[in-house]
Amino acid sequence: MYYKQYGDTDMRVSAVGMGCMRYDEEDIKAGRLDACADVALYALEKGINYFDTAPFYCNDKSETITGMALSQVKREQFYVSSKANLGTTGKIVNADTFRSRLETTLNRLKVDYLDFYHLWCLLSLESYKQQSEALYDFFVQARKDGLIRNIVFSAHMQGDELEKVIATDNYKGMLIGYNALNYRFRQSGITAAAEKGMGVVVMNPLGGGLIPENPEKFAYLTKGTDLNVAQAALRFAASHQEITIALAGITKKEHVDDAVRSVENLVEKPAAEIVAEYAGKGMGIDDLCTGCGYCRGCPVDIDIPKYMDAYNEKLLGNSISGRLKYHWGIPGEKAGDCTACGLCESKCTQHLPIIERLAEIARLS
Ligand code: SF4
Ligand code: SF4
Repeated sequence: MYYKQYGDTDMRVSAVGMGCMRYDEEDIKAGRLDACADVALYALEKGINYFDTAPFYCNDKSETITGMALSQVKREQFYVSSKANLGTTGKIVNADTFRSRLETTLNRLKVDYLDFYHLWCLLSLESYKQQSEALYDFFVQARKDGLIRNIVFSAHMQGDELEKVIATDNYKGMLIGYNALNYRFRQSGITAAAEKGMGVVVMNPLGGGLIPENPEKFAYLTKGTDLNVAQAALRFAASHQEITIALAGITKKEHVDDAVRSVENLVEKPAAEIVAEYAGKGMGIDDLCTGCGYCRGCPVDIDIPKYMDAYNEKLLGNSISGRLKYHWGIPGEKAGDCTACGLCESKCTQHLPIIERLAEIARLS
């Protein structure tokens, strides 16, 4: 296993971590939680020492299963993270509701403290402001009380928005989605975090399965390796110097083997070098929005890069509405507000037909 230093902490973490949101559904339904825990134990055996879980994952069983596995080894053999936000603390948010949620997590994981506790699922700067104002002080108190070691955040924001949260100096690390499809959206964020001495953990390295489902289109990732496309996509993320851990969603022991294989003899490179290396490569990259953000400033407040990212999903054979609703949390109908003023198209670095695409999104919503 290849290990990296987590930001400016003294923690040495595996370059691939176990994303504990994909325990086997059939096993969970049948109550075979031991079988799921065996997979996490296998990951430990193979050198993976970072486990990322949360309330609600896997029918709310993920923390329990992960605890069943981790409690079988010494506490110093692993790092574990979980998450909290206004969705986990209930409508009445106070020190008691926050603490009670955290204690549930600690009990399920059978640990006295968490290594990382995320302010969870920040979709925009507005949601960041709302969540941090309501909860950050409770995180700080929990750290003082020894219940968590590091306060971190997880977000679905783009690079420039991430930079603003990073600039607060309030977080030891962050968790974001990053892969060969969307890296241009986020690259400035990981660079800013690394410069601050933060750990950077990335989720969704396979692009929600789009990359392994389109092996020919992403074959360029495997060039010079004997890896399959899924392994190469994981390696793509892990090879960034700025990225500490690439999380692999693991259901079976074979997924652990894949993850371990993907970082064998890893060579790390700066993100800027990787971006230059892959420029122009990839699936229909000319038609894809790169997330550069130059089109911002819409007079009717349409967050164009997010809508164009959702349209990317269509080009890749996926659902626009799913992306808008579950990833970005914005309504498709808003695309219908476009007045076709043309301002954004005049600035688009990819010369995309933004007006036409917004009209299509509005029609489909
Ligand atoms: S063309 Fe539409 S989306 Fe673009 S800036 Fe004008 S109103 Fe906004
Ligand atoms: S300028 Fe074009 S490529 Fe860049 S974010 Fe906007 S729509 Fe996407």
